[in-house]
Amino acid sequence: MQSDSALSAKEEPPAAKPLQDLKQFRSAGRGFWSDISDTDWNDWHWQLKNRITSLEQLQRLMPTLTAEEIAGARFANHKLALAITPYFFNLIDPADENCPIRRQVIPRIEETHTATWEMSDPCGEDAHSPVPGLVHRYPDRVLFLVTDRCASYCRYCTRSRLVSNATGYDFHPRFEEQIAYIRDHPEIRDVLLSGGDPLLFSDDKLEHLLAKLRAIPHVEFLRIGTRIPIFLPQRITPALCTMLKKYHPLFISIHSNHPRELTMEVREALGRLADAGIPLGNQSVLLRQVNDSDTVMKALIQKLLMCRVKPYYLYQCDLIAGSAHLRASVREGLEIMEKLRGHTTGYAVPTYVIDAPGGGGKVPINPEYVLCRNADRVVIRNYEGKIFEYPEAVDGTPTSPPPQRIAEPELC
Ligand code: SF4
Repeated sequence: MQSDSALSAKEEPPAAKPLQDLKQFRSAGRGFWSDISDTDWNDWHWQLKNRITSLEQLQRLMPTLTAEEIAGARFANHKLALAITPYFFNLIDPADENCPIRRQVIPRIEETHTATWEMSDPCGEDAHSPVPGLVHRYPDRVLFLVTDRCASYCRYCTRSRLVSNATGYDFHPRFEEQIAYIRDHPEIRDVLLSGGDPLLFSDDKLEHLLAKLRAIPHVEFLRIGTRIPIFLPQRITPALCTMLKKYHPLFISIHSNHPRELTMEVREALGRLADAGIPLGNQSVLLRQVNDSDTVMKALIQKLLMCRVKPYYLYQCDLIAGSAHLRASVREGLEIMEKLRGHTTGYAVPTYVIDAPGGGGKVPINPEYVLCRNADRVVIRNYEGKIFEYPEAVDGTPTSPPPQRIAEPELC
């Protein structure tokens, strides 16, 4: 991999070196595909056609596969298909068994181990689906699933019950019915297109859907959830951006988990979307041995800002069947959040959420900053552990003296 900037490592304190190294933008390079023409490599159709989808291909490209990975890849196509774009494959370090990119896309035998509390539909989407392909769980917005296909498949996918159709779910969205439902429900002001990955559609097919949704007067706001800019930045063509900008206000939520995913190619692709006036947010999943470290997470969120992307949510990994080996604990998540809030730009800090198991929706969870609270006052602590008291107002009039820092919290 090549880097676009030389580090001023000599001037960095030792503790800052791993962070600065993770924050460098590198190209994914050509790796095993050095003889492919630029035209082919930069063609998203070529990338899709040449995905790694079988154990035989994986073994040829990566003789360092472990026994757990070989067994996992044999089983994969019964649970969630194996597919990795050549571009993304080049980010894997074959010499590192614990490579954070590898853990996200190469199956492991642990996927066959299912605990009793794990579920095939951990967010209860099917129970909130009035029409196939539409999830109406929150009052004013819907999730509009458009496809069960993705450019590559994430081994912890919340929708692995339907994505890739490995389990025979046989997902068939009914666009006309989905659109009619939205048209008939004036309370729906926000539509999130997801899947699978909507950006796998051709420009024309995607535009057809966007135009129909935009024509509904009460739909104020459109969103697309996609991991394409990370798995397949070649798909973010100028023509796609020109089409998308006709449907504003349109936001895009990308999905990246590790700073190494933010390559020079990804930064350029995200720049094209941002130049089209599309506000960009990122959703990450907290994953064991991928991003369960405050240094990795800080590098990721700071790098996202450099790509003009606001870190939006950090998800506690859903209780998806066979994902225990990838789930970090809530305690670890809270410790990471504690090391972000106040220690870096507020814009960079995502909201840490648990999607309540069974369909309760997103619940934000935070380290405890409110130590106690009553009718007269709130006792809070800041990111340095310093304690302050803030008077509670009644009809706008504080009942206590002005805000102050106090040495010890007094019990409310
Ligand atoms: S890109 Fe999204 S929908 Fe597709 S496999 Fe990954 S998490 Fe699931």
